[in-house]
Amino acid sequence: MARRRPLQCVYCDNHLRQPVEINIKSIDLTGGMCPCGAVYVLDRTGHNLGEIYIDALQFVCKGDLDKALGLNPEDYESEDMDYDPASNTVGRVGSTGKCKLLFVKLIEK
Ligand SMILES: [Zn+2]
Repeated sequence: MARRRPLQCVYCDNHLRQPVEINIKSIDLTGGMCPCGAVYVLDRTGHNLGEIYIDALQFVCKGDLDKALGLNPEDYESEDMDYDPASNTVGRVGSTGKCKLLFVKLIEK
């Protein structure tokens, strides 16, 4: 069995609250933001990561889609985790969870 643990930021270990509905400019997603600047976005089906990815990049750019689409792979880091909304816990990808959480953080230069 994969170990599950409470939802924490993958970059700074801050404990995070459950994803909530977020609307900024044209973005409409379920997720949240960590004080360290990382964002996380919930993918309820676990099969939509491509779409969620753009949303997450736009979210981390505070709604600026042009900036988001102009990002290079070296400008940010990302990580996805299996997520269980009922217990607000995460596990390694491939554990039983159906939902996924995508974390994205811009790299400060
Ligand atoms: Zn953080």
